[in-house]
Amino acid sequence: MGLTTALDVRLASACCRSFPCIYSAKNLNIIGANIFFSRMQSFALHESLLVGNGCNPCTANLRMQLISFRRPCSSIVDSDRESNSFLKQSARGQIMAAKNASKVDDGKYKDTIDLPHTNFSMKANSAVREPEIQELWEKKQVLQKLLEKNKGEAFTLHDGPPYANGDLHTGHALNKILKDIINRYQLLQGRKAYFVPGWDCHGLPIELRVLQSMDALSRNELTPLKLRRKAAQYALKTVDEQRISFKRYGVWGDWDNPYLTISPEYEAAQIAVFGNMLINGYVYRGLKPVHWSPSSGTALAEAELEYPEGHRSRSIFAVFKVTHLGEKFPEELKHLHDNLGLAIWTTTPWTIPGNAAIAVNDKLIYAIVELQHGLNNCDGEVHVPGKRKQKHGFGLVNPQLKNLIVAKDLISELQHRWGVGLEVKGTMLGAALEFSRYKHPLDQRESPVVIGGDYITTESGTGLVHTAPGHGQEDYLTGQKYGLPLLSPVDHQGNFTEEAGKFAGLDVLIGGNDAIIKALDEQYSLLMEEEYGHKYPYDWRTKKPTIFRATEQWFASLEGFRTAALEEISKVQWVPPQGENRIRSMTSGRSDWCISRQRSWGVPIPVFYHVESGQPLVDQEIITHVQSIISKKGSDAWWYLDTVDLLPEKYQDLANDYRKGADTMDVWFDSGSSWAAVLCNREGLQWPADLYLEGSDQHRGWFQSSLLTSVATKGKAPFRKVLTHGFVLDEKGFKMSKSLGNVIDPRIVIEGGKNQKDEPGYGADVLRLWVSSVDYTGDVMIGSQILRQMSDVYRKLRGTLRYLLSNLHDWKLADRVQYEKLPMIDKYALFQLANIMEGIKDSFEKYQFYRFFQLTQKFVVVDLSNFYFDVAKDRLYVGGKTSYTRRSCQTVLASHLLCLVRAIAPVLPHLAEDVWQHLPFQYLLEDGSKAETVFEALWPQINEEWKSFSKHDTALWSAILQVRTEVNKVLETARTNKLIGASLDAKVFLQFSDENLSANLKCMSASGDSGVDKLRRILLTSQVQILSLEERETVHASFSESFSLEEFGDLWVGITRADGGKCERCWNYSSAVGSFQDHPSLCKRCHSVVNVLYSSTKVEASV
Ligand SMILES: [Zn+2]
Repeated sequence: MGLTTALDVRLASACCRSFPCIYSAKNLNIIGANIFFSRMQSFALHESLLVGNGCNPCTANLRMQLISFRRPCSSIVDSDRESNSFLKQSARGQIMAAKNASKVDDGKYKDTIDLPHTNFSMKANSAVREPEIQELWEKKQVLQKLLEKNKGEAFTLHDGPPYANGDLHTGHALNKILKDIINRYQLLQGRKAYFVPGWDCHGLPIELRVLQSMDALSRNELTPLKLRRKAAQYALKTVDEQRISFKRYGVWGDWDNPYLTISPEYEAAQIAVFGNMLINGYVYRGLKPVHWSPSSGTALAEAELEYPEGHRSRSIFAVFKVTHLGEKFPEELKHLHDNLGLAIWTTTPWTIPGNAAIAVNDKLIYAIVELQHGLNNCDGEVHVPGKRKQKHGFGLVNPQLKNLIVAKDLISELQHRWGVGLEVKGTMLGAALEFSRYKHPLDQRESPVVIGGDYITTESGTGLVHTAPGHGQEDYLTGQKYGLPLLSPVDHQGNFTEEAGKFAGLDVLIGGNDAIIKALDEQYSLLMEEEYGHKYPYDWRTKKPTIFRATEQWFASLEGFRTAALEEISKVQWVPPQGENRIRSMTSGRSDWCISRQRSWGVPIPVFYHVESGQPLVDQEIITHVQSIISKKGSDAWWYLDTVDLLPEKYQDLANDYRKGADTMDVWFDSGSSWAAVLCNREGLQWPADLYLEGSDQHRGWFQSSLLTSVATKGKAPFRKVLTHGFVLDEKGFKMSKSLGNVIDPRIVIEGGKNQKDEPGYGADVLRLWVSSVDYTGDVMIGSQILRQMSDVYRKLRGTLRYLLSNLHDWKLADRVQYEKLPMIDKYALFQLANIMEGIKDSFEKYQFYRFFQLTQKFVVVDLSNFYFDVAKDRLYVGGKTSYTRRSCQTVLASHLLCLVRAIAPVLPHLAEDVWQHLPFQYLLEDGSKAETVFEALWPQINEEWKSFSKHDTALWSAILQVRTEVNKVLETARTNKLIGASLDAKVFLQFSDENLSANLKCMSASGDSGVDKLRRILLTSQVQILSLEERETVHASFSESFSLEEFGDLWVGITRADGGKCERCWNYSSAVGSFQDHPSLCKRCHSVVNVLYSSTKVEASV
């Protein structure tokens, strides 16, 4: 939408003096995307005042009025209803003057004013425009062309694959947009930033999705192959959906050829990584406890468990006799050794045969207590009304075990529960118990007391934990620490094996529990048995209880390459730097990596097992053979081909003796192999990557699995630099969750919700601007208020670019004014532009996008809208179309436009492209061809001359800006007291205590034919006079005030009404008005401009 009729323009431009109504509450409400420039910029200022000075809205409003009242002339407007109704209220401005003049003079001057013009709309209309721009990029193959033509080196940002399950959330948007900002910046720098997006497609959540979508009958008929096909379908469908969203964010990449962890070439590369690690000796097979469902005969993941209400376990207190005291055991208590026992408590009596240690907490206080009898019989069931069913055991009357060790804090609880007195004989820290030994009551084995972790508390039990590394995760870890044997005498149906001796064949959960409890009691080791209600894991499919059972799994042993991995960590650059410590401690502390899963939806572990002995068969030849099959047919082949076809020729005769394994690989092994499958396999990418960029949780996940596989097989990290971001929280800093209803859906941010009033569609660029604004090194916040602020900042930027476009509508490169011929104000503007461009480049180079956001916003509001653009309007609109004053200003504006549009392009690519498509002139590349898109134009080269502005002149301009601020204050007083209406009605007197400054400003005001650098032009008043202290005494100012300037002494400002008559055309007052017979209502400058136009002869406009 652009300008419509001349009348509209005149009406519109009249509003620039209409400050009293602009900032009334009523009008603030209607300020929207359609506001015209002057209001746009004033609004920007309004906000900056609020933010910058922390002042109240009233003060801001006053300041606001001041600025708008000083605005000299017209602007442009979209011809919308709101602005028209607004315009009717206004009646002043020099275009209005022209209009009034036209009544008497047949519109003589209205066509002599050079109004801004552009078809670039103030409205982003992102729902339509952004997809159009994306289509344009696609049609013109912009990314492909850049990758071909760019002369710089390759830049590889390797995508961490999101999981192909469910909808995208704001965290995904933050991640991918950060990547895109970096890639687009690198492309603009001339580098070949080829980005291959990826997806993680295997794994349990997808498998479960498939299972949940089926009824019980079809689930029973499901073969692994059928399940895999359904899972693949589901994953591919999700990939398609997520891809559409990512593209809508404006993320550039090879979307037609993403990497998927289920593609045959990917799977084959992953098999090779596994093979390499195996051949290098870093992969082994070992026992580890897992959740096991005896009812369905399979291992289960946490997600497959449920915890139904009402489960009751048979819990027991038992006592194990101490045989040896450890070295740290207190001397003074050693005499109690002979009949000393360790009291333990467990809710799984069947795990007692697997006992390998008793664990204590080294920081808790333990007591030796002597059993005091006489309180209870120990031979029957006890029913305490309302209490649990209890049965005491013979352990309470065993004279060989009358001294028990328990946690001190639990003594009174245990007295009550056991119905005995417990007399304290002495206490000690848990640490003192380490390495004491005891005898297993059932098979007489000796085992140690060990130090467990913080999981040992005094909330329940005795404070001593029966430890069976084959039957529990914490027990397993403690077992690893102490090198305890891993006993798991239970088969896949949940029955005791031969290893369990006389218990063999018993179902552990029923007969097994019974038999163990009875056996303990017979050994005088049972203290008490009672029912215990707690949460217990059940198989979500069969609804039956599960057990912890150690099974044989494949592990990556870290010992072989941990040192190398830690060395690599120190060579990588971590952003923010604390990431290094995180991954270092996680890598140095982690135990061996269990890489096998008993699932169907994954990449098979390419190992065969001897049918009788169970011995695994795998070597380089097998790996290579399987890898080659999978690269052609995909990993489904492992399931549908027979063993004989999966074995290489040399082993085919033995095929009948072997079966193929059913395990798949951990999905972290999948994604952790992406460097091999993608970076090492794709043309245009490089290993190691320049950058990995994911959420900070990936120090534990993808960064680590990628590091480990790469170091184990290639001896080097797969990345040079790793950047992490935090999580996305809501506006109040809460985690987003469906139940809290505070989830921000990126799709709704872009397209809007059902109610567009409450949830307007902001477009992708506003979302991207938000990404740039946050300090992503910590957690970041988003919400409707933050988005509204972002939308306002976006509009300021858009308005600034529109101002630039609209004032260059008649400009060509040939009209450029040489740098050395520019007035000082223009050189100063270019100096500032050069500085800001350096700052922006630096912030992109350092990935500190919030600095880009802050620098750009400040530059646009403070340096451009509030100053340069404000002062420039006189030159642009009434300075004369082809005059030096206007052309020099346009030269500066063109530089700003060409720099800013490319500086914002990484963050706001749609806006930048929209602007570029509206460029009123052609921008030619080095080879003479036209840059059809903003990205083809690459990053702007800053003219070295721009930086040549001297220190002296920089200081002078700092003083001028201060003077302008102070003068405005006095003008405001004069306006409030009705001495003047517009600032051009005023004459300003200045007196400086700093004589140097005074002389410099006098000199500046006197120099230059153009008058552009004259103080009156910069202060937007009709006259300025610089006085000495003596002269000041002779002046009768209507209003005056003194100020002290920073570094430039004192300033006195006096104001009177301007001398002379008011020019009809430009509103400046001058004694020349009335002196020209042909145009009696014009000033000298306007007379000259008008004469040039009327005579079409080239006369330089002068003041
Ligand atoms: Zn004039």
